[in-house]
Amino acid sequence: MAENEQAKAQTASPSAEESIFTKIINGQIPCKKVYEDDQAFAFHDINATAPVHFLVVPKKPITQLSAVDPSDEQLLGHLMLVASKCAKQEGLDEGYRVVVNDGKHGCQSVYHLHLHVIGGKQLGWPPTGN
Ligand code: AMP
Repeated sequence: MAENEQAKAQTASPSAEESIFTKIINGQIPCKKVYEDDQAFAFHDINATAPVHFLVVPKKPITQLSAVDPSDEQLLGHLMLVASKCAKQEGLDEGYRVVVNDGKHGCQSVYHLHLHVIGGKQLGWPPTGN
C-alpha cells in the first residue's frame, strides 16, 4: 500500500484541470463528509491508514504547501482549527497526527492541498518507510 502511494507520487503533478478534491467539494464525486464551511471541507480518506483517517482541504484550489502565498495565512490557520475541531468530533480524545505531504519526495499524489488527520490507534514515530 505504501509502495503504491510512492508509485503514484512519482507521476502525480499539478494540473490546470479541476482536482479530484474539487470534484468532491462540488459533489461530483461522492465522499464520507466530516465537515464543511465557506473555506474548508473535510472527508474520510478512501484508503484509510488507521481507524480514523480524514482529509481537511481548502475550497480554494491551492496545489500544495510549497505553493502557498502569504495571503493564504488566515486560510492555513483555519485549516488547522478545522482539523482540531473535526478530530474532537471524530472522538480522537487520545491524540492524533496531522500530516501534509508536499511534492514527489513528500509522496504527494493529489495536487490539492490537504491535511491528513490520522488516529484511533497508537501511532509510532518516526513514521515507517520515512
Ligand atoms: P497524498 O498522497 O498526501 O497526496 O494523499 C492523497 C490522499 O487522498 C490519499 O491518502 C488517498 O487515499 C486519498 N484519496 C484519493 N482519492 C480519494 C477519494 N476519492 N476520496 C477520498 N480520499 C481519496
